[in-house]
Amino acid sequence: MSAREQHIAIVGGGTAGWLAALVLSDSAARAGSTLRITMVESSKIPTIGVGEGSTAVFRQMLQHFGFDELEFLSETEATIKYGIRHKDWRRLGVTYDGPIDDPHLVSQTPEAKGSSWLNQYCVASGKPVQEPHLFAYLLDRQKAPYAKKPDGSYVPLGPFHHAYHFDQSLVAKYLKSKSKGVDHVDGLVSGVTRHAESGDIEVLHFEDADDLPVDFVFDCTGFRKQIIGKELGAEWVSYADQLPVNRAMPFWLDIEEGAELTPFTLAWAQTAGWMWSIPTQSRYGCGYVYSDRHTTPEEAQAEIEKALGQPIEPRNDIKINAGRLDRVWINNCIAVGLSSSFLEPLEATSIHGTIVQLLMFAMFHLNRKPGEEDRHRNAYNQAVARQVDDFMRFINLHYVSERDDSAFWRDVREKYILPENRERLARWRERLPRHDDFKPFPGNLPHIEEQLYYPVLDGLGLLSRQTAKAEMDAMPKLRAHARKTADSLTREYKSASLKALGHREFLAGLAA
Ligand SMILES: Cc1cc2nc3c(=O)[nH]c(=O)nc-3n(C[C@H](O)[C@H](O)[C@H](O)COP(=O)(O)OP(=O)(O)OC[C@H]3O[C@@H](n4cnc5c(N)ncnc54)[C@H](O)[C@@H]3O)c2cc1C
Repeated sequence: MSAREQHIAIVGGGTAGWLAALVLSDSAARAGSTLRITMVESSKIPTIGVGEGSTAVFRQMLQHFGFDELEFLSETEATIKYGIRHKDWRRLGVTYDGPIDDPHLVSQTPEAKGSSWLNQYCVASGKPVQEPHLFAYLLDRQKAPYAKKPDGSYVPLGPFHHAYHFDQSLVAKYLKSKSKGVDHVDGLVSGVTRHAESGDIEVLHFEDADDLPVDFVFDCTGFRKQIIGKELGAEWVSYADQLPVNRAMPFWLDIEEGAELTPFTLAWAQTAGWMWSIPTQSRYGCGYVYSDRHTTPEEAQAEIEKALGQPIEPRNDIKINAGRLDRVWINNCIAVGLSSSFLEPLEATSIHGTIVQLLMFAMFHLNRKPGEEDRHRNAYNQAVARQVDDFMRFINLHYVSERDDSAFWRDVREKYILPENRERLARWRERLPRHDDFKPFPGNLPHIEEQLYYPVLDGLGLLSRQTAKAEMDAMPKLRAHARKTADSLTREYKSASLKALGHREFLAGLAA
C-alpha cells in the first residue's frame, strides 16, 4: 500500500490526537499527497486537562502552521512560560530558575562554535548561568515578552521562543477548530480486526458507531492504550526504579484579585515529592506529585495545605506508572501521547515529546516505500525509546540533592540516582558539559541538550567553579570575549525587561 493512498485513523481527541491530525494533514498537503484522515474520539471519555506547561517547540509549531499567537492565547486562556522555578530542590531555602532561551544563539563566536562558552564563563566567574538570559529577567519581573508601541501594536523583546501554560482540554478544542479536511467519528472503539497473516489492523469496531476500514492507526487514547496495549500487546518499560514518585494529586487554586500571573512553572520540592503550580488565565492548576511509599494521600494533602497556608480540594489522586512502551510502532499502529509514555511533569516533556515524535514521523516515515516497513518501524522505535529515556535521565538528575530532611530524600539518594548520572557528574566535575556530550536527535529535532542541563546542574551546585576557571584561563581570548558579551547581554536584557508589559496586563489586553 503506497503512503499516498492511505486512510489514517487517529483514535483519541485529546491534545495528542489533534496534534497528530494537524501535523499529518499539514505534511501531506505540503508533500502534495492525498491522505485521508479520520479523527475518532469518544464524547463518553474526557481528556486529561490538569494544567500543563509546554516547551518552546509548541510556539514554533503554532508559527509553522501559521496560527496567530495572540488568538491562541485568548482562546485557550493560556499564559506565557519562560521556564521553571525550582524551589527547595538543592536544599531548603535555595531556589533556582531554568530559563529556556539560549543566549548563545545571538552571540555565537567562530572560535567557540557549538560550545557552551557563556555558561562556562558564568560558572568560572561565580555568576548564576541565568545572568545573560533575557527570560531570566522577564520571568523574575513577571513580564510579557512584548512591549507596546504608541500605535498599540506589540513589539517582541527578543528573538527567542517562549513556552505556554494552559489547560490542554482547551488546547485540544482550539487545535480541533483549526484542523481542516479531517473526517470525524464520535464513537468508542471496542475492538479491531487484524489481517490473518500480517497482523495489520484492517477495521476498527465500535460500541456505538459503524465499522471503519483503515490502513494505519494512531493510538492517542491516553492512559487506556486501547489499541497499542489492548489489541497489539505492547509491553511497558517501567521507570519505577529510576523515578521515586508514583502518585499525582491535582488541585486548583484561585487567582487573587489583581495579582500578577507567574510566567514560570513552579516546581516546589516537598518531603515526599514535589508540587507543580501552573497559571492559566482563570486559575492555577497545581498538584502534588509524591511517593506513596513515603506518605499517605491524607498526609500529602495536609503537607501541601501547610505549605500553601490554605485548604485545597484534590480533584483526583492519579496513580503514576512512569515509563514508556517497548515499541510505540507495532504493525500499522503508532502510539503517541499518554498512550506511549508518561513521566512526572517536572520538565514538561510530554506534549513536547508528542510534537517531536509526530514531526519525526512526518519528516522520515510518512512517505515510506512499500517493503521498507520493518526498517522504518525499527528506526522510529529506537529514536522514541531514546528520546523518552533521555527525558527520564534528565529528570532523575534533578533529584541529586543535599536534602536529608525526610525518608524520601534519603531513599532517593541511596536508591534512585542512576549510576550513569553519577558517572556523568563525576566527568563534568573534571571538565564542564559541552555540546558534544549530547547526541543530536534525528533531523536535528529539538531535544534535551546542554542549555537545559546547565541551569539545573548549576542550581543544584553540581558544577565546579575551579574547573570552569581552568578551562577559561586556557582560552584568554575567549574569556575576554565572553566577559564582554555576558556583560552587554545582561545590561541589554535587564533594560529590555523594564520596557515589557506586565504579564497580566498583556493578557488582559488581548481579551479587551
Ligand atoms: C498529572 C499530570 C500532569 C501533566 N503535566 C504536563 C505538563 O506540565 N506538560 C506536558 O507537556 N504534559 C503534561 N501532562 C501530560 C499531558 O496532559 C498529555 O501529554 C496531553 O494532555 C496529551 O494527552 P492525550 O491526548 O495523550 O490523552 P487524553 O487527554 O487522555 O485523551 C485521550 C483521548 O482518547 C479518547 N479515547 C480513549 N479511549 C477511547 C476509545 N476506546 N475509543 C475512542 N476514543 C477513546 C478520549 O475520549 C480522549 O479524547 C500531564 C499529565 C498528567 C496526568
